Order: sequence, then structure tokens, then C-alpha cells
Amino acid sequence: MTGKKNPSLIENVSSLKGVGDKSSALFEKCGIKSIEDLLGYFPRDYDICKEIQNVSDLHEGDVSAIRVVPSSNIALKHVRNLSILTFKASDTTGDINITYFNMPFMRNNIKPGHHYVFRGIVQRKGRGFVMEQPKMYKTEDYLEIMGSMQPKYPLVKGLSNQLVIKVMKQAINMTPYLEEMLPTYIKRQLGLLDYSEAVRKIHFPLNTDEYRIARKRIAFNEILEFILRLRFLKREEEQSINDYSYESSKASDSLIEQLPYKLTGKQLTIWNEIKSDLRGPHIMNRLIQGDVGSGKTILAFLSLLFTAENGYQGAIMAPTEVLARQHYEGFLEMAEKYELPIRPVLLVGALTAKEKRLALEGIENGSFNCIVGTNALIQEKVNYKELALVITDEQHRFGVLQREKLSDKGMNTHILAMSATPIPRTLAIILYGDLHISVLDEMPMGRIPIKNCVVGTEYRPTAYKFIYDQVKQGHQAYVICPMIEEGEMDGVENVSDYTEKLIKALPSDVHVATLHGKMKPSEKDSVMEDFSNGLIDVLVSTTVIEVGINVPNATVMMIENAERFGLAQLHQLRGRVGRGKAQSYCIFINTSGRKEAKERLSIMNNSNDGFRIAEEDLKQRGPGDLFGIRQSGEMSFHVADIYQDAALIKEAASLADRLLLEDPDLVMEENAPIKQWLISNSFDFMAL
Ligand code: ADP
Ligand code: MG
Repeated sequence: MTGKKNPSLIENVSSLKGVGDKSSALFEKCGIKSIEDLLGYFPRDYDICKEIQNVSDLHEGDVSAIRVVPSSNIALKHVRNLSILTFKASDTTGDINITYFNMPFMRNNIKPGHHYVFRGIVQRKGRGFVMEQPKMYKTEDYLEIMGSMQPKYPLVKGLSNQLVIKVMKQAINMTPYLEEMLPTYIKRQLGLLDYSEAVRKIHFPLNTDEYRIARKRIAFNEILEFILRLRFLKREEEQSINDYSYESSKASDSLIEQLPYKLTGKQLTIWNEIKSDLRGPHIMNRLIQGDVGSGKTILAFLSLLFTAENGYQGAIMAPTEVLARQHYEGFLEMAEKYELPIRPVLLVGALTAKEKRLALEGIENGSFNCIVGTNALIQEKVNYKELALVITDEQHRFGVLQREKLSDKGMNTHILAMSATPIPRTLAIILYGDLHISVLDEMPMGRIPIKNCVVGTEYRPTAYKFIYDQVKQGHQAYVICPMIEEGEMDGVENVSDYTEKLIKALPSDVHVATLHGKMKPSEKDSVMEDFSNGLIDVLVSTTVIEVGINVPNATVMMIENAERFGLAQLHQLRGRVGRGKAQSYCIFINTSGRKEAKERLSIMNNSNDGFRIAEEDLKQRGPGDLFGIRQSGEMSFHVADIYQDAALIKEAASLADRLLLEDPDLVMEENAPIKQWLISNSFDFMAL
């Protein structure tokens, strides 16, 4: 074990057959440069050729296979430049309509009286079922592929799944051995697959069992790494002396008296915890977990003000520029209104060169003492005069990395991480060990509970009318789709097409706009700015808006393909409304006909309490869940999922604790691969 990378791994993907300049650029768009990056690009889903179903058992929205005989004439129509071929087909349990567009030749392939297997998405038209453009097989051919799994990769426009599969197969054949990070004794103890094998199998599992064990190994890696980092962090914190002096809390305490609202009991408790941490013997490392809308921002502001009034600088990092700007504007307003000794500055990528220079100068000479930005704050070269506190908002996973980055720079500041992903307490304790956690589980008074409804696609026209009504009353709405553009996944709504659809469906005086993660930061900013200012009525967006955006005038949240999201994530999305004085509404569109989807969504319908929802998510999902639903956002790993992998988290945590008890600095020969692994992931042991 040398720690040197297998040379073929660092080679560019363009060295693979079938990857020219054009596709190489597309791969780069997906974050793939080297062969190693490629191997780490895991499928988002698999296409499984499932067993043949009876027509009478079909569910709308499923991809199903049926074995049927054509039972009507095959009709071929021409509508404008489209040719439409339709016929009825039956098995002993029922009928279904089959349709092909622009494939007139299919007429010659389908012989009356013969059985065929058709595989496609089941759609409902009127009272019956339809399959459009299904794949057709001879029965024996289908039986051969039945049960097999084809990976489906996240794609960008122009990149085909076929190409990714082809290239992935080559890469896997070329690099049979990947560096193993777990010692054999641990793998044996926990029954884990070799890493190389796991990577191979997660791309091309023969069956769902293989997929599960491959996934388990990869998820275990992610979780173990995270927990080890947390444990080292904790140790570092215990060894770090707090040599900042926080004496006066006059300005911050008196701000509490002047606010237009009273802090809740929990907010006050946590504020006191923060104060005593900052005045304590060791540097602070605290996580605030609070439900959406529980009022974390004011706690951040109070901490920054407390820092400023004692002559230090504080910084807050938000996951998006939009959110950073929002914090900055809010802070500036309070600073001016209450004449506070705090001078905020915004530091984000979208600044002009001059603005940026002025900001950096002011930070260096201390004329700004509250720096608001994105993670660029620690990646870029920013010289602080005297930074004492770093706050991370809505990204507590990130908080760990930030702490490491900061200590790499020789800065040992207080850290406050704020998270709006309510993690069930039991799990939080396992993950974070005895790191300090404050739970903000009390809502400010006077909130009007959001009204929810879970409905099918047939409700859309009613929903659009409802949105229009709200817009007429001066309010705004969000519509969320899972995908950005067409072709990413079948049967799932995408923002681009949906925007078009909505513009047609709504009267022309409604201003509809689009927001998604692949837009340039400056474009995103200007859309959010316009939405904030009421210039946009309806915002069609991906989940990029899930983190922290505060537009109190928005009263409707409509979520398409709601069954595809985790409950915790749905709760986050819903948290974008119900922030103002007016009644708010959340419409969950369920496009799945499955009973489980309905049951899951009914939890959202019945509760607005994030901690309860998180507990339910934990209860309902187990490692048996295949895929489809995965959290995005702050607690998402690549493959692991805190809810689905709760049991794995327990295993990883107890392994980590045992390991560090026996070998605190990982100096034992047998643990060398783990140490090597952490170091190669830029973990800095020297900082310990
Ligand atoms: P989150 O915890 O999701 O970050 P915010 O901090 O954005 O929530 O707070 C949501 C809204 O609640 C803000 O408009 C804020 O001013 C308001 N707020 C915060 N604390 C209280 C309180 N104690 N009473 C009333 N309103 C509050
Ligand atoms: Mg927030």
C-alpha cells in the first residue's frame, strides 16, 4: 500500500474509446475529468426488467411489462406531420391500448394472434390504460433479460446513458483494483465487500441483492469518513483553548429587547448556551438544529453582534449566493435600524471586481466586522483582521469541512453550525457523539399552520386556478419539479418544459419564471431578486430553493412528482411558504398509483412538525428501500442517506469509536489504509 494512485485512474476520460472532445466536455459538465471521477459517478437509478404483470394489476405511472395479443385492427392515422399507430391488446385479465408515434413500420412487426411482451410506462387515458412507445419483445427474449439491471446515470443534455454505460464498462475493465481503505479485519467483522468489487457492482449489479451489498459498502465508506472527521474535530476542539475574550454583551442583549417580537423560550436558552460557549475555556463547536422557520437567523445575528461588540470579526457562510444576499440585506437593515456596532459586508462571486476589492480591503483593515458570503469565504484568499467566529447556515456536513479548512489556515475560531434538517435525536447523538447540539423545536407564536393537500395529476387545472387566485390577491407561488431538462428521467416533470406548460395554462398577465441549479449564479440571483420583489408571480424551480429562502409573500407551494422526494426534503420545500401573515398552502402532486406513496405523503398532509416527520421517515425507510427517494441538500451523501441508513450509521459510529479508543492516532500498521484514505481526502492529521 503506497498511497500512490493507480496511474490509469488519474488519466483523463478522453483516453477511453468513444470519448472525443465533445463528449469529454459533456463529462466535464457532470464533474468528471479523470477515470477515477468516472468510477465515482454512480447510477441514480436502474432499469429493471421486472416480471410480466397482468393487465388488471397495472398501476398508472409504473414502468411495467405485459404479455398480450393484439385484439383489434392496427390503425394508422396521420395528424399533421405525425403518424400515429394504435391498437388494442389483451391478456386474460384485461385490455390496454398501445400507441406508437412516427413508427409506421411497427405495423409489419406485429402479427395478429401472436403473443408479445410490451414494456413501457403505464398511462391512464379516460377509463383505460395506454402504453406509448413501449419496447416490444418476443416472449423468450424478454424472459432472458427479466430481472437484469441497467444503470441509469444522471445526464446532461447531449450525453446519452448508452455512452456513459459503454465508457464505464471500459473503465471498469481497465482498472480492476481500486485502493482499499478498510483493513481486512474490519471488512470481515462487518461483512463488507471489497471496495473495488463494490464499485464494479454498483455500476453493473446482476440483481438487486448485489446492488444492495455494493451500495452498503459504499455508503459505509461515506458515513465512516464523516464520523471519523467529526470525532477528530471534537478532539481538536477539546484541545483548543479559547483565547478570545467576550466580555460585553450589552449591544446584543439590548437588541433582544428592541426586536418587534419576543424570542421564544428555546431561542433564549440557546442564546445563553452560545454566550457561555463563547466565554468558556475551549473554542465553541455547536450545532443548532431547528425546524424550518423556527428562527435560527436571529441567533446567528446575535452571535455575530456579540462578536463585533467585543472587537472581533465574525463570518457567516450560506450554501447559496441567494441566501447569502438575503442574510446580508437583513443584517444591514437591523444594523441601521437599531444603530448597532456591526458593519456587515457581502462577499460572493457575483460582485464586480471593484466591489470585491473594497470588501477584501475592508475585511483586512477591520472596517467590516460581519462578513456574509458563501463557501468562497474560506476557499478564497481572504485576510481577516481578527476572525473569531464562523457560522455555517444550512450545511452542517459542510461545517465539518469548514472547520478543517480553517484550521489548515491556522485559524482556530469558534464555530456555530445551523441546520434545518431535523435529524431524529437518537441519530444525531450517534452521528455527532458528544458534540454540542442545541435543538430549536419551538415555533414563534402566531404562525398560521399551512394547509396541505395530496392530489393526483387530474387536480392540476384546479391547482392552476387556485394559484391564479392567489396571484390576483397579490401573492406568489412556487412550483417544484424534480428535473431540470427533458430526457433526464422518464415520466418525471422537468423545469424547462413545465415552465412552458404553465405559461400556456395561466392567463398571460401572470409572470412565470424558472430557477435551477445549472443557471449562472448571477442569473439565479436576479431571478430570486425579482421573485423577492414581487416581479415574478410563479417560480418554477428545482429543489435549489429548498434552502432557507425567505419570501413571506409566497403562499403556495406546489410540488410535482412529490412521491420522488424524501419526507424531510418535502418538509424543507414546504417551509418556503407559511412565512408571512397570510394563510399558506402546500399542494403535493402524487404521480404514483402506489399505496405506499400515498401513505408516505399522507404524513405530510397530517403534520407540519419537522421532527415528527423525520422520525416517520426513519421508521418507514430501511435499507431494503431500493432507490428513487433520496434526500438532497445538506445531509445528503453521495450514496448514503441518513434515514435509510440509520442502522449503518450505528455500525459505523461504533466502529469509529472502537477504532479511536484502541488506536487514537491511527498509527497501528493494520489501520494504515484508513489513515492513508483520510489523508488522501485532504484530512489534515498535522492539525491534531
Ligand atoms: P429559519 O430557522 O428557517 O432560518 P428564520 O430565521 O428565517 O427561520 O425565521 C423565519 C421568520 O421568523 C423570520 O421572518 C424571523 O424574523 C421570524 N422570527 C424569528 N424568531 C421569531 C420570534 N421569536 N417570534 C416571531 N417571529 C420570529
Ligand atoms: Mg434559515
